[in-house]
Amino acid sequence: MGSNEEKIRYELTREFRFEAAHRLYKNYSGKCGNNHGHSWHVIVAIHGFKLDDSDMLIDFNDLKPLKRWINEVLDHTTILWESDPMLAYIKESKQRYFATKKSPTSEHIAEIILAKAMELFNNDRIKVKYIEVKESCTSGAKVFPKN
Ligand SMILES: [Zn+2]
Repeated sequence: MGSNEEKIRYELTREFRFEAAHRLYKNYSGKCGNNHGHSWHVIVAIHGFKLDDSDMLIDFNDLKPLKRWINEVLDHTTILWESDPMLAYIKESKQRYFATKKSPTSEHIAEIILAKAMELFNNDRIKVKYIEVKESCTSGAKVFPKN
Protein backbone atom coordinates (compact mmCIF):
# COMPACT_ATOMS: atom_id res chain seq x y z
CA MET A 1 0.00 0.00 0.00
CA GLY A 2 1.03 3.56 -0.63
CA SER A 3 3.72 3.07 -3.23
CA ASN A 4 1.58 4.54 -6.02
CA GLU A 5 0.42 7.33 -3.77
CA GLU A 6 3.96 8.43 -3.23
CA LYS A 7 4.49 8.86 -6.95
CA ILE A 8 1.61 11.28 -7.41
CA ARG A 9 1.73 14.90 -6.46
CA TYR A 10 -1.64 16.63 -6.31
CA GLU A 11 -2.07 20.31 -6.97
CA LEU A 12 -5.10 22.57 -6.82
CA THR A 13 -5.65 26.25 -7.43
CA ARG A 14 -8.23 28.78 -6.47
CA GLU A 15 -8.59 32.30 -7.73
CA PHE A 16 -9.67 35.39 -5.82
CA ARG A 17 -10.11 38.97 -6.94
CA PHE A 18 -9.81 42.32 -5.28
CA GLU A 19 -9.83 45.96 -6.34
CA ALA A 20 -7.00 48.27 -5.36
CA ALA A 21 -4.91 51.17 -6.55
CA HIS A 22 -1.15 51.41 -6.42
CA ARG A 23 1.70 53.35 -7.88
CA LEU A 24 5.39 52.62 -8.29
CA TYR A 25 7.46 55.38 -6.76
CA LYS A 26 10.74 53.76 -5.65
CA ASN A 27 13.46 54.01 -8.33
CA TYR A 28 10.88 54.08 -11.07
CA SER A 29 9.94 56.60 -13.75
CA GLY A 30 7.48 54.84 -16.12
CA LYS A 31 3.75 55.40 -16.45
CA CYS A 32 3.00 53.12 -13.47
CA GLY A 33 4.38 55.93 -11.33
CA ASN A 34 0.90 57.45 -11.64
CA ASN A 35 -1.66 56.26 -9.13
CA HIS A 36 -3.88 53.75 -10.96
CA GLY A 37 -6.18 50.87 -10.15
CA HIS A 38 -6.45 47.21 -11.07
CA SER A 39 -8.88 44.36 -10.62
CA TRP A 40 -6.21 42.13 -9.16
CA HIS A 41 -6.40 38.37 -9.61
CA VAL A 42 -4.79 36.21 -6.97
CA ILE A 43 -4.22 32.53 -7.63
CA VAL A 44 -3.23 30.33 -4.72
CA ALA A 45 -1.76 26.93 -5.59
CA ILE A 46 -1.63 24.18 -2.97
CA HIS A 47 0.21 20.89 -3.43
CA GLY A 48 0.91 17.71 -1.59
CA PHE A 49 1.34 13.96 -1.93
CA LYS A 50 -1.48 12.75 0.31
CA LEU A 51 -5.22 13.32 0.22
CA ASP A 52 -7.31 13.76 3.35
CA ASP A 53 -10.09 11.42 4.56
CA SER A 54 -12.44 12.95 1.95
CA ASP A 55 -9.87 12.35 -0.81
CA MET A 56 -9.19 16.04 -1.13
CA LEU A 57 -5.97 17.95 -0.90
CA ILE A 58 -7.97 20.69 0.79
CA ASP A 59 -11.65 21.61 0.56
CA PHE A 60 -11.94 24.69 -1.70
CA ASN A 61 -14.07 26.26 1.03
CA ASP A 62 -11.18 25.98 3.44
CA LEU A 63 -9.25 28.42 1.25
CA LYS A 64 -11.75 31.17 2.09
CA PRO A 65 -9.78 32.52 5.07
CA LEU A 66 -7.26 33.85 2.55
CA LYS A 67 -10.07 35.59 0.64
CA ARG A 68 -11.34 37.09 3.91
CA TRP A 69 -7.87 38.39 4.76
CA ILE A 70 -7.49 39.90 1.28
CA ASN A 71 -10.88 41.60 1.62
CA GLU A 72 -10.02 43.02 5.02
CA VAL A 73 -6.46 44.10 4.31
CA LEU A 74 -6.08 44.81 0.57
CA ASP A 75 -9.48 45.30 -1.06
CA HIS A 76 -10.36 48.91 -1.99
CA THR A 77 -7.11 50.23 -0.64
CA THR A 78 -4.30 52.24 -2.17
CA ILE A 79 -1.18 50.11 -1.91
CA LEU A 80 1.90 52.28 -1.46
CA TRP A 81 5.55 51.87 -0.59
CA GLU A 82 5.97 52.89 3.05
CA SER A 83 8.28 55.77 2.03
CA ASP A 84 6.04 57.09 -0.75
CA PRO A 85 5.15 60.72 0.12
CA MET A 86 1.60 60.11 -1.14
CA LEU A 87 1.01 57.84 1.87
CA ALA A 88 0.71 60.85 4.21
CA TYR A 89 -2.14 62.31 2.15
CA ILE A 90 -3.98 58.98 1.92
CA LYS A 91 -3.77 58.57 5.71
CA GLU A 92 -4.77 62.17 6.37
CA SER A 93 -7.85 61.90 4.19
CA LYS A 94 -8.84 58.65 5.91
CA GLN A 95 -8.61 56.56 2.78
CA ARG A 96 -7.96 52.83 3.10
CA TYR A 97 -4.31 52.03 2.47
CA PHE A 98 -1.83 49.22 2.69
CA ALA A 99 1.80 50.24 3.16
CA THR A 100 4.53 47.92 1.85
CA LYS A 101 8.20 47.45 2.74
CA LYS A 102 9.20 47.19 -0.93
CA SER A 103 7.69 48.91 -3.93
CA PRO A 104 4.10 47.62 -4.41
CA THR A 105 4.87 45.67 -7.57
CA SER A 106 3.00 42.50 -8.47
CA GLU A 107 6.06 40.60 -7.26
CA HIS A 108 5.96 42.18 -3.82
CA ILE A 109 2.18 41.95 -3.42
CA ALA A 110 2.43 38.24 -4.33
CA GLU A 111 5.19 37.89 -1.71
CA ILE A 112 2.96 39.43 0.97
CA ILE A 113 0.03 37.16 0.08
CA LEU A 114 2.34 34.12 -0.02
CA ALA A 115 3.46 34.72 3.56
CA LYS A 116 -0.18 34.86 4.72
CA ALA A 117 -1.19 31.80 2.68
CA MET A 118 1.70 29.76 4.13
CA GLU A 119 0.68 30.80 7.64
CA LEU A 120 -2.92 29.74 6.96
CA PHE A 121 -2.50 26.54 4.96
CA ASN A 122 0.90 24.90 5.34
CA ASN A 123 0.85 21.74 7.42
CA ASP A 124 2.53 18.32 7.43
CA ARG A 125 0.47 17.17 4.45
CA ILE A 126 -0.02 20.22 2.21
CA LYS A 127 2.04 23.25 1.27
CA VAL A 128 1.44 26.44 -0.66
CA LYS A 129 3.23 25.93 -3.97
CA TYR A 130 2.96 29.47 -5.28
CA ILE A 131 0.95 32.66 -5.34
CA GLU A 132 0.29 34.35 -8.64
CA VAL A 133 -0.84 37.96 -8.75
CA LYS A 134 -2.17 39.37 -12.00
CA GLU A 135 -2.63 43.08 -12.61
CA SER A 136 -4.41 42.38 -15.88
CA CYS A 137 -5.29 39.47 -18.13
CA THR A 138 -1.85 39.60 -19.66
CA SER A 139 0.57 40.56 -16.87
CA GLY A 140 1.31 38.85 -13.61
CA ALA A 141 3.96 37.58 -11.22
CA LYS A 142 4.36 34.28 -9.43
CA VAL A 143 6.27 33.73 -6.23
CA PHE A 144 7.33 30.36 -4.84
CA PRO A 145 8.61 29.53 -1.36
CA LYS A 146 12.30 28.69 -1.46
CA ASN A 147 11.72 25.20 -0.05
ZN1 LIG B 1 -0.29 48.68 -11.83
